[in-house]
Amino acid sequence: MNDEEKKWHDSEPVVPGGESIFGVYCQQGVCPTLRLPAKCPECGQVAVHMFYYDFGRGRGGGWAWCSSCYGWGHGSAFIPKWWTNVPGITEDMLTATPVYLDDVRDSIDEHWNDLLDHMVSLPPVDSPVGMN
Ligand SMILES: [Zn+2]
Repeated sequence: MNDEEKKWHDSEPVVPGGESIFGVYCQQGVCPTLRLPAKCPECGQVAVHMFYYDFGRGRGGGWAWCSSCYGWGHGSAFIPKWWTNVPGITEDMLTATPVYLDDVRDSIDEHWNDLLDHMVSLPPVDSPVGMN
């Protein structure tokens, strides 16, 4: 384990019977309105990021981590139907600990939020400002 990996810890439920970061965000299925970053169940910061990797044939991995307290979880996951792999991130870059993923968390969040924005035709929230 190198220094980068040492700062990470397995996300543990904050209260007995509670949920870890992975439990809250990956295992229960993702709410289609969840935007990233999301609130961390451990430290309360809005710093939770998520990532899926679709290996094809219905297999996938899910990661959820907090870039504030470094809690993380990873495991097999059902890939949400709306997910597409992040361009430029390939299988060989992935490790269980989200060391690399945290480095590129901004582009992962952007990809995630973009997919959700285009997944469903939501009613317009408000009209463009300054256009007459
Ligand atoms: Zn946290």
